[in-house]
Amino acid sequence: MTIRFYNTLTSQVEEFQPIDDRTVRMYSCGPTVYDFAHIGNFRSFLFADLIRRFLELVGYDVQHVMNITDVGHMTDDAVADGGGEDKMQAATIRIKEDKKSGKVPEGAIENPDDPYQIAKYYTDAFLEDARQLGMKVAFEYPDQILHATEQIDVMQAMISKLIDRGHAYVGADGVVYYSVESFPNYGRLSGNTLDHLQSGAGGRVSDENQAVKKHPADFMLWKADESHIMKWDSPWGKGYPGWHIECSAMALGKFGVDTIDIHTGGEDLIFPHHECEIAQSCGSTGADSFARFWMHARFLLVEGEKMSKSKGNFYTVRDVLEGKVTNRPVHPAVLRYELLKSHYRANMNFTAKGLHDSAGAVKRLQDFRAKCEAASGGEVAEVGNSHPVLKEFIDALSDDLNMSGALAAVLPWANESPSDPAEALGVLSEINTVLAVAPINFDDDASSTSGGNGDSDVAAICRQIDEARAAKDFATSDKLRDQLVAAGYDVQIGREGTTAERPLA
Ligand code: AMP
Ligand code: ZN
Repeated sequence: MTIRFYNTLTSQVEEFQPIDDRTVRMYSCGPTVYDFAHIGNFRSFLFADLIRRFLELVGYDVQHVMNITDVGHMTDDAVADGGGEDKMQAATIRIKEDKKSGKVPEGAIENPDDPYQIAKYYTDAFLEDARQLGMKVAFEYPDQILHATEQIDVMQAMISKLIDRGHAYVGADGVVYYSVESFPNYGRLSGNTLDHLQSGAGGRVSDENQAVKKHPADFMLWKADESHIMKWDSPWGKGYPGWHIECSAMALGKFGVDTIDIHTGGEDLIFPHHECEIAQSCGSTGADSFARFWMHARFLLVEGEKMSKSKGNFYTVRDVLEGKVTNRPVHPAVLRYELLKSHYRANMNFTAKGLHDSAGAVKRLQDFRAKCEAASGGEVAEVGNSHPVLKEFIDALSDDLNMSGALAAVLPWANESPSDPAEALGVLSEINTVLAVAPINFDDDASSTSGGNGDSDVAAICRQIDEARAAKDFATSDKLRDQLVAAGYDVQIGREGTTAERPLA
């Protein structure tokens, strides 16, 4: 079987093979934790989860690393040098408002001027959302998810190396800059080569600091700034790292190699972020390549426009699950399916209708599982990848993650009554290691951290309702029922005992 992925670096679909036989090293740019991530962000994160789960299905050992950006990401990040203010700084103002309006609940972020409290609050929220959506790397926290603020020494070591190797210099303003002219391949990923990049040209290069830079596209690695919201001692003065150096240093530092197999992110990260990451990483190691495959997800759109914080046209995971889009709660499996169902290299429009369709597909898969389980008495047969449905699913995903082809293999089959239900369960289980919707597969320990009302919590509440009713304590049983209803469950109380089910959408 040949796996082929589109590589932004070469603008071609290419055969994928990792550097080491069966191990794949993959790095994904993670969230900036100044606010809740929106579902557009999660389209990019789940795209990385899809690559990982698919490669695992076909037998690779995938080491997936993601970062948490908790310093240095500036509000104007479309230019290489950044501009405006640190997003963590900007958050301090917004959070004071959000505390007044109740958007940030009582007791959370006690001191809105403390960026570490802000980062912790939104990191926890991100991990909770990511686990609800079945993102595997979130269950590996903190081992595989790194905080930028905890890796400052690794970044400083890389900056020193870049200065030693002639790729970086200290400008007259004391800022450490990367010298883009020292790296002939600058622009290879994005097409923004140096002859295309001039000050003010298409907004790609900032007009700031031109007097002290050797080239207008030189970008900041370290800035001494006593007034910055977060700062560390360094050979270049007390200050903070540039956003781009964070990912280069964390990726190479964590993996301990010069070249990794796959680097992912959303399409807006191609330039300047990933272009600068390549220059820094290759500049510091001398290797020809930092990541063999650069893979980017296209945007999630709302009414034809990029979903983004700045446009205000976004939904958080919580918004969707709580029913803000559909007027009734949505199961996390449905949102996961919705964000994964279309090809990652096509823009995707987010609509309530799309969510309803996804709910139908997830229900079909879950019902099929229940039917097979009932018929096989729970027996799950071992199946090989040559089973025709599984083979078609894998073949489609091998073709640059052709998800609609993969689903077209599975959904009609899930309408049938299988002649061998144990075998069908085996096939579905394999497929579900990738889709993770029937059921959403993550371990119970982690789900109980996701704001309560994991399946085991719900079962316990149902039992308490039965106990309270047996003791004729109807005030308690009503209170518990209301609690489940408020969390979006359909509760059935009957002679056989209480059951609670969350409708899909
Ligand atoms: P940020 O938290 O801003 O650093 O973004 C986290 C990730 O989300 C990055 O990989 C972005 O490229 C990606 N992203 C941002 N907006 C969207 C969107 N509307 N659709 C898909 N990915 C997005
Ligand atoms: Zn990054």
